[in-house]
Amino acid sequence: MFYFIDVILPIPLEKCFTYQVTQAEFDFLKPGMRVAVPFGKSKIYTAIVQHSHRIAPEIYEAKDIHQILDDVPIVTQMQLQHWQWIASYYMCTLGEVMRSALPSAFVLESETIILKNKDLVIGDETLKDDEFLVYEALHHQSSLKIQDVANILDKKNVLPVIKRLIDKNAVSVEEEIFEKYKPKLVRYVKLSSKYSSEAALKDLLEDLNRAPKQRQVVMTLFSISAQTKKPVKVTELVEESDANTAIIKALIDKDVLEEYHIQTDRILYDGDENEDSKRLNEHQDNTLKDIKETFKDQNVTLLHGVTSSGKTEIYVKLIEDTLQEGKQVLYLLPEIALTTQLVSRLQMYFGEKVAVFHSKYSSHERVEVWNNVLYNSPKAQIVLGARSSVLLPFQKLGLIIVDEEHETSFKQFDPAPRYHARDTAIVLANLFNAKTLLGSATPSLESYYNAKQGKYGFVELNHRFNNVLMPDIELVDIQDKHKRKRMTGHFSDRLIEEMTETLKEGHQIILFQNRRGFSPIVECNTCGHSPQCSNCDVSLTFHQFKNQLRCHYCGYHMAMQTKCMACSSLELDSKGFGTEQVEEEVKTLFPEAKVARMDLDTTRGKYGYDKIINAFEQEEVDILVGTQMLTKGLDFRNVRLVGIMNADNMLNFPDFRAHERSFQLMVQVSGRAGRTDVRGKVLIQTYNPYHQILKQVSTNNFIQMYEEQMNDRHNYKYPPIYRLIKITFKHKDFQKVNLGADWYAKSLRQVFKHNVLGPEFPPISRIRNQFHKNILVKIPSKQSLSKTKEAIVKINNSFLSVKDFRSVRVVLNVDNY
Ligand code: ADP
Ligand code: ZN
Ligand code: ZN
Repeated sequence: MFYFIDVILPIPLEKCFTYQVTQAEFDFLKPGMRVAVPFGKSKIYTAIVQHSHRIAPEIYEAKDIHQILDDVPIVTQMQLQHWQWIASYYMCTLGEVMRSALPSAFVLESETIILKNKDLVIGDETLKDDEFLVYEALHHQSSLKIQDVANILDKKNVLPVIKRLIDKNAVSVEEEIFEKYKPKLVRYVKLSSKYSSEAALKDLLEDLNRAPKQRQVVMTLFSISAQTKKPVKVTELVEESDANTAIIKALIDKDVLEEYHIQTDRILYDGDENEDSKRLNEHQDNTLKDIKETFKDQNVTLLHGVTSSGKTEIYVKLIEDTLQEGKQVLYLLPEIALTTQLVSRLQMYFGEKVAVFHSKYSSHERVEVWNNVLYNSPKAQIVLGARSSVLLPFQKLGLIIVDEEHETSFKQFDPAPRYHARDTAIVLANLFNAKTLLGSATPSLESYYNAKQGKYGFVELNHRFNNVLMPDIELVDIQDKHKRKRMTGHFSDRLIEEMTETLKEGHQIILFQNRRGFSPIVECNTCGHSPQCSNCDVSLTFHQFKNQLRCHYCGYHMAMQTKCMACSSLELDSKGFGTEQVEEEVKTLFPEAKVARMDLDTTRGKYGYDKIINAFEQEEVDILVGTQMLTKGLDFRNVRLVGIMNADNMLNFPDFRAHERSFQLMVQVSGRAGRTDVRGKVLIQTYNPYHQILKQVSTNNFIQMYEEQMNDRHNYKYPPIYRLIKITFKHKDFQKVNLGADWYAKSLRQVFKHNVLGPEFPPISRIRNQFHKNILVKIPSKQSLSKTKEAIVKINNSFLSVKDFRSVRVVLNVDNY
């Protein structure tokens, strides 16, 4: 009788792989458990059991599994279904989804490591020839991998040899490699039970009179326990009693204290009692009722609520209801920059029920959150996280909130799965029969369109909390200002006036400049040459801080040049500017003010954002200069003025969503101004003050923007009217990319006719020595998406079977952003 399991391997394989198991293993294994399996020549992978069956594979002989790694499934049935959807919708493999979903400590692909047993000397005569060779090698090398052993013995199947060596106690294999995750143990002490009687305790204290330091420790232990009524950590005791660990050790050795360990999470909440959530005002209350009403017959509802209308407090009420039903909540945010403020806000109400999950957490921390979610622990009733938290092992999900749903960073760009967290969340919620609330002050055209079509419920909230006025938005024509010499660097006289005024009144300022790297390039005023990256075919950007020219893609860099590399002219101009330059200019203009900068460079590291956001919140900073990052949902109380340094580089960005995005960015960043009683002021500097989008921003006219943009999307066949699949070709050989992309496009055109665009080179067509070329497939709403994908897969397979093209990398991006 034969028993088999199909497993998902963490590599891009089209199909699941089948392994043979024993009957006992068959009975024990459940879908979602991990097994270590051999794959290829000598690799061992961690795989996830997908299902078990009795049918032997036809084309290959099933190998035995190496080992079972779990007692219970770590991936739920629901997740396996969800993964399946992701893989098929986003045209990737289950292995890629698995790799993205599991914290890396769960997925190890390293080979078994063989170590010599140091405690035992084995006589050569007891070893067979092949065993001896391996054993001998371990004298020279502390450990060997299976591949090493295979090389030494010059044969493939070396496991029997290793097994014999293990049986002879000559070597051991390192099992730990499969379980990199180790629970974090914290050392605690308590008074030994010997002293539980009063008399014994009295004797002890008398005894200790001769050892005052030790006595001090024991007394401190009493007082901490009395105060906190909780176990006492060794570290805490050391600190409070002014002792050192040696004294504590002495007490443990004397049996006065007993030590013990408790497994703790690395992520701790150390707050006080929870607060009650806020009472909603009338508008919020109506909105909440409306949302609940739509949820009666809709699974997804879009909440369009102006900035500072108090959406978060409405979410809090919905969360409370969901917890009441004993269900979990997922709260998705576009970026971890936002979690800082929200974590403290949610913890205020929900204490340690809130878990946070994002990519800056270590793998160990992620495993802990994973387990807490999986076991539906009280510590993970609400999961707050960025994109990847939609892949956690929820048990009883009741509600998903997607805050700032319009944010494009919800879409994963690279690597596969190239999923959109909002859309993936909706599918997840449906699996659980849970509700999804999408919230934004500037909804995406997609979601607004879906709401208008009746696909989603729709609720509006047009009042700012406390009736704070919407900010006053003023457009500043900088072309005119330049002509009339009213510019100082990148600052118009109007902006300087308003800044001076704001600082005088003790309010704070936010200055927004589009993401770095798009404009701060160096150009020669004489010949127009601008230094290029030798790998990427892209202009290098100027970094004042390091006085360097750097490639924004590959990190290639050189010292800033003093003269043009082409014509040796000394007149170099850094056309365009980034946040760094704005910061420098502000410092010169306002030497008294405290200035901080928030962009990719200043927010590295786990607490990068927190530091800056806290400092600004605490008003230790007067002027915050930043990129996109600071537009997203942050709630600062004392900001009166927002300056948008240059609207044009946003509007001119070569992307069909540029106008929509510019609107969203500008409205969002404006929404940071005047969130309390003082009305906020926004200055937008631009060369083109008559631009429609700028008018719509200054009058906060979302509807008009929506209608105009939808018109364009209709005319030019773009989402949400059409769907898009982008196909990217990558190869270091220019010719291959060209020929390959042409071949592919021709095949596509036979099926999809004029709905195929390209192949075209992207603006940056060479990245890390690889040429890129794109094809865009536009899919009309009436055309079946699954049939379309089938056709593409077919073309893809024939493409890869052409010998010349096999080495070309093809990347499929569904719903490309
Ligand atoms: P939004 O997410 O819509 O931009 P927030 O939820 O951040 O708005 O609310 C804006 C501000 O108003 C926050 O500081 C919040 O604490 C406050 N606020 C909102 N609703 C209430 C309420 N019902 N009671 C007291 N304060 C509130
Ligand atoms: Zn020159
Ligand atoms: Zn480069």
